[in-house]
Amino acid sequence: MIRTRFAPSPTGFLHIGGARTTLYNWLFARRHRGTFVLRVEDTDEARSTEDSVTAILDSIRWLGLDWDEGPLPMVSGGGTPSPETPGSGSPVDLGRDRGPYGPYYQMKRIELYQKHVRQLALAGLVYPCYCAKEELDAMRKAAVAQKRPAIYDGRCRKLTDRQKAEHEASGRKPSWRFSMPKEGETAVDDLIRGRVSFDNRLLQDLVVQKAAGGPTYNFACVVDDHHMAITHVIRGDEHLSNTPSQLQLYAALGWEAPKFAHLSMILGPDGSKLSKRHGAASVLEYKAAGFLPAAMRNYLGLLGWSTTDSRQLFFGDELVEAFDLAGCQKNPAVFDQAKLTWMNGEHLRKLGHDELMRHAEPFLEAAGLVGPLDPPLDKTVALEGEKCRLLADIPGRVDFFYKDVEFTEKAMAGVLKRPGVKEMLLDVAGLLEAAQPFAEKALEEKIRGYCEARALKTSQVFHPLRAALSGRTEGPTLFGMIEALGRGKSVGRLRAAAALL
Ligand code: GLU
Repeated sequence: MIRTRFAPSPTGFLHIGGARTTLYNWLFARRHRGTFVLRVEDTDEARSTEDSVTAILDSIRWLGLDWDEGPLPMVSGGGTPSPETPGSGSPVDLGRDRGPYGPYYQMKRIELYQKHVRQLALAGLVYPCYCAKEELDAMRKAAVAQKRPAIYDGRCRKLTDRQKAEHEASGRKPSWRFSMPKEGETAVDDLIRGRVSFDNRLLQDLVVQKAAGGPTYNFACVVDDHHMAITHVIRGDEHLSNTPSQLQLYAALGWEAPKFAHLSMILGPDGSKLSKRHGAASVLEYKAAGFLPAAMRNYLGLLGWSTTDSRQLFFGDELVEAFDLAGCQKNPAVFDQAKLTWMNGEHLRKLGHDELMRHAEPFLEAAGLVGPLDPPLDKTVALEGEKCRLLADIPGRVDFFYKDVEFTEKAMAGVLKRPGVKEMLLDVAGLLEAAQPFAEKALEEKIRGYCEARALKTSQVFHPLRAALSGRTEGPTLFGMIEALGRGKSVGRLRAAAALL
């Protein structure tokens, strides 16, 4: 039974890299009908915040990645993403969790970590370290100056009982360090990178328990992955260098290690590691900018993974069905906002009308477009939705139906202020006043008939009509737009525009 986990440290938002890690763990678990676990690694007390927990969980939920065990709330279910509800903001039930291997907040598992430090102490595999922060800093500086690897030099390994007693008597509280083997190599058999070997001389005696009693990341991670029966650790490549140390801890504790898969680095378009400098940073910013969760999943899915035929678009459950670790690549992936935006447009066009409206609603509302309106938003969004690439584009495309016409320079100077336009607008206003039925097809026939009768090219009529009705030179199909505007508004706008000419 496959068990994967995403283990965020709640010290900030969920970024693109974290979102991709979450997605791959989720996809792998769902693909193999396994279990996806969420674990909050909140042992950095100075930097962990509840706001960050909330933001990370909200981001994961918005992405539609449901978890089976971990912090509440959960949306259970296998295979299908949970309903995507943009704007839904039910608060997470902080600190509460569910699942057979809990608690899923590391700060609630301190006793378990301490128990295993005692286990290692009994086996003589950890030692107390009394070095103060200043000493460690000085050690690091000296190493850097001498171009040696900046790792702990192991000075407390050799303390005599008397020295230890002196430190204790002086009131120093020790941290506990693990005695790493200093010879040979540790090989990581990575599912994506293959075998990567590390020289044990470069593995430092890492702290497993801090002086205050809490665990360090590397130790808590091993203890939890073991106790939570995690079978596959899929994570960012920045953790590859931690893996040999973690493997040594598994061996020392007598545990079988999970399988590891380290995902490729994500670069920005300029070739440097993706960061805030490259634009939107957190997943929730993508939500606010009008991206769909399904498009984000699709895009992130391809950020370091591909099918043999380089397929680009995945809808519904297709990503779950296609995903495998074999398709994950070692080479860095480049984040391409333009491709993501294109993909979002493709996903928008796949939405049924009701779904599109549901997703568009928060954006329309934010622009003050709240129903019931005349013409109904349903109708105007349907006319324009097809052309949008972002949900956030929708209000700007339909707002002209509802507010006073504002003419763009191009519409006024380039289209309307031409000889004969004024008369034509008034003629068509007259036609529309009498048109029966006031429906797209019939309106088109009438206006085309008018062009013929006056020996005018359709472009001489259609472009100015559009400009007069909307103030713009682009927009929905002309006759659909006239039908949606209705007789009153259409006639009124044509006359108003004519009056300006
Ligand atoms: N808490 C770690 C992080 O946020 C998790 C690393 C891991 O997946 O082991 O980077």
